[in-house]
Amino acid sequence: MENRTLQERMRLLPAIDKILSDPPGEALIAAFPRTKVVEALQEAQGKLREELKRENGSCPTRESLAARLVEIARSDLESRFSLSLRPVVNGTGVILHTNLGRALLPPSVVQHLTEVSTHYTNLELDLDSGERGHRSSHLEGILCDLTGAESALVVNNNAAAMYLILDTFARGKEVVISRGELVEIGGSFRIPDVLAKSGARLVEVGATNKTRLRDYEHAITENTALLLKVHTSNYKIMGFVETTSRESLAALGKERGIPVVDDLGSGALVDLSRYGLPREPTVQESIRSGMDLAAFSGDKLLGGPQAGIIAGRKSLVQEMEKNPMMRALRVSKLVIAGLESLLQIYLREEDLTAAIPFYRMVSRTPSELEETARALASRLQVVLGNEASVSVLPGTSEIGAGSLPTETLPTFLVALAPTSQKEEHWAGLLREQDILVRRCQGELLLDVRTILQEEQPLVLQAFSRIAKEEGPGEWNC
Ligand SMILES: *Cc1c(COP(=O)(O)O)cnc(C)c1O
Repeated sequence: MENRTLQERMRLLPAIDKILSDPPGEALIAAFPRTKVVEALQEAQGKLREELKRENGSCPTRESLAARLVEIARSDLESRFSLSLRPVVNGTGVILHTNLGRALLPPSVVQHLTEVSTHYTNLELDLDSGERGHRSSHLEGILCDLTGAESALVVNNNAAAMYLILDTFARGKEVVISRGELVEIGGSFRIPDVLAKSGARLVEVGATNKTRLRDYEHAITENTALLLKVHTSNYKIMGFVETTSRESLAALGKERGIPVVDDLGSGALVDLSRYGLPREPTVQESIRSGMDLAAFSGDKLLGGPQAGIIAGRKSLVQEMEKNPMMRALRVSKLVIAGLESLLQIYLREEDLTAAIPFYRMVSRTPSELEETARALASRLQVVLGNEASVSVLPGTSEIGAGSLPTETLPTFLVALAPTSQKEEHWAGLLREQDILVRRCQGELLLDVRTILQEEQPLVLQAFSRIAKEEGPGEWNC
């Protein structure tokens, strides 16, 4: 066929009224508000005119232009009407990925969230007396039960927990902390900065690799408000290292009448070595060692919603509850509901590998992962044909969220090498379809550990779209 002139091609552009009265246009109106469909078609016409100017060699038909117009409009409408925060497939193998929302909630927790949010609740009502109750009452008992603490309270996240502690007890006073524990968690949360913000003065003691009890002892003055221990969550100091034990720090605090605070970070409630991970100090151990307050996150190793939990002495918790900042930091009923039903799983001593997604993912065995990877790889090879070569490789998964930074878990990866060597382009196309993968040396890597069973069809679908796109285009003459 001969090339048409630009003018001839422009004349083939269909009128919007015509599109709206044809089935593809009617389908758009069935799915989206009419005014928005008209707007989208008008914008699509503009885009299509630009495309026609650019693509000099193309020879479209009236039908192909109409189809293209509807396609552009549909894609714009879909992105405009899609939710911004939505599920994605995590093929990265980082289990508690902070950018991907950390812990996945157990189905029992989600069910309780639904019930609590579609009905009225006794959020701040004591059902026994009919009097006004307190929202913190729903979590305090179960937290004390699980951690062995006298009292507990919950705020928005662990950063807020640390802020509340420092603001309540250390404003205008000194807080003693080891030089080896001046942590930056990421996202601009640095222990020294939070201390400064809360009006406390930081007193650094010891060296980066060694801090002894007498370093703390020598730093105490009449102005000392707290001794602070911070879990070095996202890094590890190895080699010639000495830290002060919780027990001796707690004893020192007790002797001098200074509260000792333990920022545990991840806050495991169980012995992680049961799940093939290195032992972490549990919250119970921290309380038992004599720490006056222990603070930890709800959405790291606990496996729940975003929250910051403080457990410890009743008198100290009561003081924090009186802090006017508490109102700004308190959690919503959704978080209370999520956390309470999650903690029930621990209380009932249910099998965590069955009940909590984090522990299920951690516990998947290499042989099970290999089998899953091989099955997915062979289906992907069918979908991709000779657009890519698909194989299975051993690799490692990470815990993430700054928990256990040096710990990796052996896993199996589906490795895809596009024959076009366009793995970066492919990674972008996958992101457009809400799928995140790793990239390494010309290959896309999918860690099956963090991909849920029900997400596999989405992965296959995404790659089959990519394979189609890589095929011959319809626009060529
Ligand atoms: C993660 C972490 C925090 C911050 O917790 P969020 O719940 O993310 O606010 C504070 N301290 C330590 C030691 C941590 O590991």
